[in-house]
Amino acid sequence: MGTQGEYNTNKNPDPEVAYTVENIEKCRCSECPVQIGSRCVIDKMRKSKQEIKRSGKVPMPENVPGIYCSADTATCTDIDTSQPCICGNCAVYQGYNLAEGKPADHFCKNGRAF
Ligand code: SF4
Ligand code: SF4
Repeated sequence: MGTQGEYNTNKNPDPEVAYTVENIEKCRCSECPVQIGSRCVIDKMRKSKQEIKRSGKVPMPENVPGIYCSADTATCTDIDTSQPCICGNCAVYQGYNLAEGKPADHFCKNGRAF
């Protein structure tokens, strides 16, 4: 359960940022102060990495604690969104020019980028 070859839920039917293994692996959310103290994030991060390694496919977005610029808001509730966002240091952010989008940061709280 929880894996599929392509992103086809209704939650994000037309993402500006592609929901791909490549972009998941570039995502810096795992290093972000917003998430660093979250047990939920640590657990999902470990499991989603295992899932990608095993299957080579993207896990369901609710099981990946990152790439919120594509997948929408965080499902973990023990994150601290008052902390600064580090998306500006991310290759995905720079590659898709997300500084020009709305929202432009804290996608874990504000939702995916357009
Ligand atoms: S821009 Fe932010 S949310 Fe999107 S992949 Fe990079 S670190 Fe993750
Ligand atoms: S979207 Fe930004 S604030 Fe949220 S976890 Fe990722 S880097 Fe941190």
